[in-house]
Amino acid sequence: MKCVICGCPICGQYYYDHWGNKVCAIHVTNNEVARCASCGQYMVPTDSTGDGRALCGVCMSSVVMDIEEAERLKKYILRKFLEVGVEFSDKNLDSVNIEIVSPERMAEIRQQPVNLMNKGITLTRSFSGGFGPIFNTKARLEHQVYMLSYLTRVEFAATLAHEILHIWQNENGIKLPPMKCEGLCNMGAYMIYEDMNSLKVSFFKKSMVESPDPIYGDGFRYMLAEREKHGLKRLFEMAKQGQL
Ligand SMILES: [Zn+2]
Ligand SMILES: [Zn+2]
Ligand SMILES: [Zn+2]
Repeated sequence: MKCVICGCPICGQYYYDHWGNKVCAIHVTNNEVARCASCGQYMVPTDSTGDGRALCGVCMSSVVMDIEEAERLKKYILRKFLEVGVEFSDKNLDSVNIEIVSPERMAEIRQQPVNLMNKGITLTRSFSGGFGPIFNTKARLEHQVYMLSYLTRVEFAATLAHEILHIWQNENGIKLPPMKCEGLCNMGAYMIYEDMNSLKVSFFKKSMVESPDPIYGDGFRYMLAEREKHGLKRLFEMAKQGQL
């Protein structure tokens, strides 16, 4: 049993992460250990992202930083959603712009302090139409998705799936209390974790299921229980019909 920081056999108190890596307790006390910003594994502190985040080699090798890949992942997510009846009038969501932003920019957009847990946000604006209100009874919605930089492929896809379900709820006029709204969006993220092949998926699934957050965690567990009873397709139908 070796410590991942000093490489020595561990004899005293130690900590371990989800992946079974162990570190001497003293390194934690002395701030000599970081956790991968994505998968949480213990590692030597490094600034992998240029903004203070440490990422392990595996996670660093799969980060999504270009829009082409983001667009490919968007298509994949929409295919997955279509299988459970989640559709959009703008079939491929071509009108939805995705931008990858730094933690500082994300904080600015949210008007909140920097928080690396904020991996994505969707801003929806509604227009009552371009040329006078008389001809437009239905408001047109425009969505902009901001995604945090240096998310790994699975994390990016799951976060984007979450955001896309916000768009879906907005487009369908679904008005749920925050707990159910976020819980349903998290179900979208979970679907992606269940579908994608990645070494790191077990960590994300566990984090979601065990999240102590009263909105995101409780909301997601509520949706898991509903899915258990009715199945995924019905779950989204119920959302649309105001039965959730
Ligand atoms: Zn050690
Ligand atoms: Zn990692
Ligand atoms: Zn959300």
